[in-house]
Amino acid sequence: MSDMTLCEVCGNDYDKAFVVVLNGETHVFDSFECAIQLLAPTCEHCGCRVIGHGVESRGFIFCCAHCAEAVGATDLQDRVG
Ligand SMILES: [Zn+2]
Ligand SMILES: [Zn+2]
Repeated sequence: MSDMTLCEVCGNDYDKAFVVVLNGETHVFDSFECAIQLLAPTCEHCGCRVIGHGVESRGFIFCCAHCAEAVGATDLQDRVG
């Protein structure tokens, strides 16, 4: 057993675990579900996980333009590119 096979979310020791490096920190997961649970931002309006590109406004992240507009954001930036 090594640290590189142990999911840090659910603790599952899985030989096909994968590593994600984010902001210089290394994270180990056994599944994308666990990775999303830990790493995906949440929509400021509805609270759902932002798994796609999402939209950003004044440092806040939303799952879609509809949610951003619901809280009055007008200077939307598509995070693509
Ligand atoms: Zn896991
Ligand atoms: Zn939302």
